[in-house]
Amino acid sequence: MQAKQVYTGRFAPSPTGPLHMGSLVAAMASYLDARAHDGQWLLRMEDLDFDRNVKGADQHIIASLQRSGMQWDGEVTWQSHRQPLYETALQELGNALYPCSCSRKEIADSRLRLGETASQIYPGTCRNGLVAGKTARAWRLCVPDQVYAFEDRLAGMQTQNLAIEVGDFVLKRADGFWAYQLAVVVDDAAQGITHVVRGADLIDSTARQIYLQELLGLPTPAYLHVPVVTNAEGEKLSKQTGALAFDRGDNDVLHEALLPAAQFLGLKMASTVEDIPAFWRAAIQAWKEKIVLK
Ligand SMILES: [Zn+2]
Repeated sequence: MQAKQVYTGRFAPSPTGPLHMGSLVAAMASYLDARAHDGQWLLRMEDLDFDRNVKGADQHIIASLQRSGMQWDGEVTWQSHRQPLYETALQELGNALYPCSCSRKEIADSRLRLGETASQIYPGTCRNGLVAGKTARAWRLCVPDQVYAFEDRLAGMQTQNLAIEVGDFVLKRADGFWAYQLAVVVDDAAQGITHVVRGADLIDSTARQIYLQELLGLPTPAYLHVPVVTNAEGEKLSKQTGALAFDRGDNDVLHEALLPAAQFLGLKMASTVEDIPAFWRAAIQAWKEKIVLK
């Protein structure tokens, strides 16, 4: 007898506002992939950016998923409740970390001196010790001058040299904020996530996450990044770019949100599905044909 294929996926929104069409597309893709594999689908609130969290947004997200017919498995988790796990991982990284005292302005200035054009790359100022008289503002992770490669299930082979394209990145800020990169790696492993399906805005983070998995001895899940929804100006939909909630309490979620999101994902769906359960049956089948069995 063949062992049943184990699949655990997740949707991991930040509770910075209600779900909009862009976040619905990411939720839908991860949900469809999990259901098409007869897998588990977990819901995790990535609420570690305490400056950006909006009170009540998590409950709004939960209600919108339920109203759309997307039922998760198990208990909802909140990253803010899981900080001891991140502390343990930080300790394990030990000598791979170093304290950094640089302000944003100092990093920008030193890049100008180095003549670098890439806007995000940390120039390594504190790698060999803090400048005398300075105090640590963050913990950074040393990255190797090495190419990390992974096969995205949709976008194909991806490669990134961490030293050249990313630089040493922050895992914890001195004010106690945990970096997304560390928390997501720790949680994906702790929750047994086998398949990550998320927006293409995070494809650039994947090599960093694979490097962290390697350092911490954790498994690497399969990755699939779906295109992000943009507005008429070509900007990614977000609260900052004025995206509206797809669920406004009394609107027609099936026709105004679910069907357009499925269309954005390129799923071949009859526009005449009569209700939300029928929508999901058809969408799971369409996802199977387009992604899983291709
Ligand atoms: Zn520094």
